Formats: sequence, C-alpha cells, structure tokens
Amino acid sequence: MATDTLISAPMLGSKTKTRVYKNFIDGEWVESSSGETFENRNPADTRDVVGIFQKSNAADVNAAVEAAKQAFKKWRLMPAPRRAELVFRAAEMLIERKEDYAREMTREMGKILKETRGDVQEAIDCAYYMAGEGRRLFGPTTPSELPNKFAMAVRQPIGVCGMIAPWNFPMAIPSWKLLPAIVCGNTCVIKPAQDTPLSTFNLVRTLADAGLPKGVINVVAGFGPDAGAPLVEHSDVSAISFTGSSAVGRNVGMTAAKSFKHCSLELGGKNPMIVLDDANLDLAVEGALWGGFGTTGQRCTATSRILVQKGVYSEFVESYVERAQSLMVGNGLDESTEMGPAINERQLTSDLNYVEIGRSEGAKIVCGGNRLDDGEYRHGYFMQPTVFTDVDPRMRIAQEEIFGPVVSIIPCENLENAIEIANGIEYGLSSSLYTKDVNKAFAAMRDLYAGITYINAPTIGAEVHLPFGGVKATGNGHREGGLGAIDFYTEWKAIYVDYSDRLQKAQIDRGE
Ligand code: NAD
Repeated sequence: MATDTLISAPMLGSKTKTRVYKNFIDGEWVESSSGETFENRNPADTRDVVGIFQKSNAADVNAAVEAAKQAFKKWRLMPAPRRAELVFRAAEMLIERKEDYAREMTREMGKILKETRGDVQEAIDCAYYMAGEGRRLFGPTTPSELPNKFAMAVRQPIGVCGMIAPWNFPMAIPSWKLLPAIVCGNTCVIKPAQDTPLSTFNLVRTLADAGLPKGVINVVAGFGPDAGAPLVEHSDVSAISFTGSSAVGRNVGMTAAKSFKHCSLELGGKNPMIVLDDANLDLAVEGALWGGFGTTGQRCTATSRILVQKGVYSEFVESYVERAQSLMVGNGLDESTEMGPAINERQLTSDLNYVEIGRSEGAKIVCGGNRLDDGEYRHGYFMQPTVFTDVDPRMRIAQEEIFGPVVSIIPCENLENAIEIANGIEYGLSSSLYTKDVNKAFAAMRDLYAGITYINAPTIGAEVHLPFGGVKATGNGHREGGLGAIDFYTEWKAIYVDYSDRLQKAQIDRGE
C-alpha cells in the first residue's frame, strides 16, 4: 500500500530522502485540504527529520468523520469475533515489525530503544487481549419479574469515536483507544500528538495490512486547536477519548458535554513512592531510578515524589543521588543510553524553569539541574537527571506535574504521615509503597487515593488487562485497559421478550 512519498530533504547534513506521510481517510492516503505540512524532528538530533506530516484542519476532520460514519453502517454488523480476528492478525504482524517500529519511535520521541520496544509490545499485548474480548463482550441475562418473559442486556457500539493522543506513549496509547473501539464495532478518527504521529501511522498501517475495511479507522495528523478541537466539536462524533494534560482535558470535557458526547479523559499525575524504614533499600533505589528517570520523567505515572521515612532518609538519598548522577544520557538509539532527551524545546524550557522554581522555594538541589548542550548533546534537548531533597510537600515542585527528569525527595515520619502527603495533591494516578510489613502494605492499598497502587515496585508499569486511570484531576472516572475500555466503547441496551401472548404490565400486573 502506498502510504507515503519520498522527497529530498536535508538530514544530518546529507541528501538523505525524507518521507512525506499523508492522512489516512476512507482507506486512502490523502493530503491535507490546505496542502500545508509540518516536520517531525528527532529530539535527540534536530537535524534528523523523521518525516513530514499533513497539517490538518476542520475540513480534513470532516472528511475523516464522514468516512467513519459511512463505514460504521457495515462494521457494526460484522460479528465481533470476526472483527477481533483482524486485530489478532495485526498483533502477529506487529511482532514482525516490532524492531523497525521501535527504532522509528525512538527517532520521533527520544525514549530509549528498550522502552520503545516495550511501547510496541504494549500495543501487541493490547491487540491479543482485545482480540479475545471479541468472543466475550458479555452482557447479563436475568430472570424477568413476569412469567413467560425473557430479559437480557447487550452491549452495542456507540458510533464514530474521536481520539486525541499525547506523545509519550506514541503507539501504546493509540492502541488502548483504537483496538477496544473497533472490536466493539465502532469506527474511529484519531489525531495523534504533533510530536509523534509516525507511531500511530505505523499501528494503523498494520491494521490496514491485516485487512481493516476502509473508513473504520481514519488518521488526521496535526495540531490541537486546528485538528483536535474540530473533532471534539463534530456533531457526528458520539464519543471522545482524550489523553493529555489536565488543562487541555478540562476544555475537551466541557466542549464534549455540550453535545452529550461520551467523554473519557486520562490526564496528569504527580505520583508518590513511599519508602519506609523496613524497605529493601537497594530495591527501592532501583525502582525510584526507573520510575523517576525512565522516559526522561515524561510519563503520566512517573515517580516524581519520593517520600522517605526518616530512619533511612540519608542512606536512601546518598545511594539514589550516586546512581542518578551516573545515568548515561544520550541518543536513545545507542543501546548503552539510559535516559534520552526531552520531547521538545518547550518541554525542556519548562523542566529547567521548574529547577529554578525549586531553588527559589528553598529545596536543596543535590544532583543535576542543568541543560546538556555540548558535544553530542548540542543538537538535542538534553538535561541532567535532577534531584531535589528536603522538599516541603507544599512547594510547587512537590505539587505540580513537571513531566521531566526532576525528582523531589520529601522526608516523612511514618506511614500515616506519608499517606497524608501522598494524597495531598490535585492528582491521583499512580502510587507506590516499599515495605516488608504486610499490614502496612494493606493499609496503604486501602488508603492511597489513586487509580493505581504498587507494592514494592515503582509507580510505572501498567498491564493492559487491568484498569488504567486515576482520580481527582487525573480524569473523569473512566478507565482505559481492561473491561473499563469495553464499558467506555459500548452502550447497554436492555431487551425484553414477552412470549406470554398477552399484555403484561411490569410492576402493575405481577402475573397473579
Ligand atoms: P497536551 O494536553 O498538550 O496534548 C495532548 C493532545 O491534545 C495532543 O494531541 C494535542 O495536539 C491535543 N490538543 C491540544 N490542544 C487541543 C485542543 N484545544 N483541542 C483538542 N485537542 C488539543 O498533552 P501532551 O503534552 O501531549 O502530553 C502530556 C500530558 O499527557 C501530561 O500531562 C501527562 O500526564 C498526560 N498523560 C496522561 C496519561 C494518562 O493516561 N493519564 C497518559 C499519558 C500522558
């Protein structure tokens, strides 16, 4: 299938060809109606143009929604197990393409190869899981209160689903949205993040190669206000699934509410890890490093606050800082790199700004804090892994989502005090506790107010068959992954079949 064209473009100073990726609408690869495009550049080396994408607008979104609306007429009638077989085939194809897609993802997003392989794997896991759901989509049958009457509830697709994705999990998050939606019989229009559209195209191209009928999934690349907003406003879109910042999510939710769209919002986080005096300290340090600096701290579940009990505070800080300082920062395509760049200049500037905020608030900076811009680093958005200690829980660096490699260590007295600090923020996505005391573990599982709690593991590492999402400003009560996704992409219909051959009136005529 011709998905793209090659043009000459400067890359790394040579005359290497750069690909132009078109939108995917009604099974065709098409240019934006405006003819405008934008570049997708490698954040580790901005001389590297990963691809050129369509700068879509409302007219492109309208065409995509119309294609999805037409495709829905047939797709909803295809038996769910057949729809699921197609998703299963795509999973098998993704396995073959995993390495290529991971490398392309590292180029567009910056995170290290180990992690981008994990990102593609998550799409594969999601595809296998959702393929299985195609043979379930269970609904209850239940006794009727009247004789000779049959009662059941069935799941029905909603229609055209609009999806808006962030850049930090460029294939995993689109897969959490698209795969349950199509298995349930919906059709989709997705707008990937402007920094990482290629991985969504790779996922959708694979589904198309696996036999997806035209119009079932449509992709429009572009920016939020031009291409995201028209999707949320479109009267033929029945559901919106949005993952991104709480600020944008709030507006998306308010707009969707005006036309009574189903709306799932998965938003920011400021995730605490509690380390108690009795914890396995080496394990906790290892977990906090992975949780804090994995994906350059750019995970909604990043371990950005570490609450350490006073008895092990000094020992933990010493060991953690020593390890953070020695992390290899660089281009994620190099297998020895442990932490890649920030996604773009704006994010890097914001990270460095938070370093200044932390300093001015009186927190102690014990590691990092600076941009890396010499030698190999000079063409990318790199900074040092950064650690603040003696952080007061009320400081902005302890309250606001930074979304970069900046970790705050907060001393705490005991579990009760730690839980109070952990819960004392506007977000509630992930949380974690390191202890060997089973009683404390169960108390924390009950009392940490968050969508996810890990015991003896950092705040990251979700699995696709469990619910994913959070409380408070992290979302609006929906969950991705697991059966929560099936619930979001279906509507219940209650069905009654009266085979008594007479008029029976529920609640009035009790069959007596
Ligand atoms: P963002 O809110 O800036 O952008 C997210 C998406 O929304 C992008 O595709 C963007 O183009 C689009 N958008 C921007 N303005 C829009 C508008 N007016 N109308 C419609 N769409 C618009 O977020 P980001 O920087 O891409 O991602 C980082 C954020 O995402 C962080 O806050 C992070 O915590 C959050 N996140 C949450 C989860 C979760 O599941 N809870 C997962 C990953 C990321």
